[in-house]
Amino acid sequence: MFTADYAARLQRFSHQLSVLGIDAAIISPGPDLRYLSGYDAIPLERLTALIIQPAKSPIVVSPLLEKPAALASPIGSMGLDVVTWTETENPFSVVHSIIGDVQTVCVDGRMWADKALKLQREFTNSVMVSANQAVAALRQVKDAQEVQALREAGDAIDVVHSRVHEFLKVGRTEAEVGRDIAAAIIESGHATADFVIVASGPNSASPHHEVSDRVICKGDAVVVDIGGTMPNGYCSDSTRTYFMGSPSERYTEMYAALLESQLTSTRHVRPGVSCESVDKAARDVLNDAGIGEYFIHRVGHGIGLETHEEPYMVEGNTLALEPGFAFSIEPGFYVEGWAGARIEDIVVCGEESAIVLNNRPRELAILEA
Ligand code: ZN
Ligand code: ZN
Repeated sequence: MFTADYAARLQRFSHQLSVLGIDAAIISPGPDLRYLSGYDAIPLERLTALIIQPAKSPIVVSPLLEKPAALASPIGSMGLDVVTWTETENPFSVVHSIIGDVQTVCVDGRMWADKALKLQREFTNSVMVSANQAVAALRQVKDAQEVQALREAGDAIDVVHSRVHEFLKVGRTEAEVGRDIAAAIIESGHATADFVIVASGPNSASPHHEVSDRVICKGDAVVVDIGGTMPNGYCSDSTRTYFMGSPSERYTEMYAALLESQLTSTRHVRPGVSCESVDKAARDVLNDAGIGEYFIHRVGHGIGLETHEEPYMVEGNTLALEPGFAFSIEPGFYVEGWAGARIEDIVVCGEESAIVLNNRPRELAILEA
């Protein structure tokens, strides 16, 4: 069971709002609400919102029929005020009447546009901004319990990669292999299988190919990028590249450079270095090997309650790494019409170096064909 100190998180978030000069935050169901309060409410058309204002107690606005669910969450154990609204009331005016006409209001970045627009109609005298910056400052620094949750997610997805050889066979379609992998993701302890990429042959050159009815052939590279969400909400995401039979000399050379790139980037991780330098460390190796043009995406993304979240390891992001940042390191190469490869681990920035949460062998996994 996850027992984060949500009251402390709410206090830190409230402090963050005052630092940024924001008078109130309106947080709807989604990862920010779950992170801040432990309330894993389902996003519905009816408005549920956590209102946080510096120097005031947080208030939850909830549809009357959702109140028992709200109180069953840590919202109840923290003793937060729950203001309910009935079917004929306008919940957006309820929110406005609680906050009043303040200068700046922020809403969570995942709020449905429909709700954000209705709130905007109430807060005509306020500037509305995104809560992303305020909440990312907290969410991107994982505490020990979150690191443990990510470690368990990493172990679970490693188990699935250790079983890929059972499913990935010449003559089967990507979709058939993908179905078996999805089942294995659940068997490994995940609550949901969030994505399964089985990209074979020329499809391996498309970074976000999912699965297709293509039949896997001898001589195919197969990029398998998989992830799910654990029952406590934390996500896994790991890629290994498999090869059906013997790769060509060219592919072998390119893969060796990719492996060096991935390891170099991981070794580069330590507090104080910039996010963009983690990307550059990987990219430099591929550039030196003459294949940098085939690495067409950023090297990584933060991970936690969402598979993709702050911080992003990308050129232009000068943010310095801090202990507790959790993110992927996933360089790849993609040669259209031919083949591709990717190696992806989740790492956490430790006190001196990276703590690597995916530990399956990174070498090209040769499968008999
Ligand atoms: Zn991935
Ligand atoms: Zn990823």
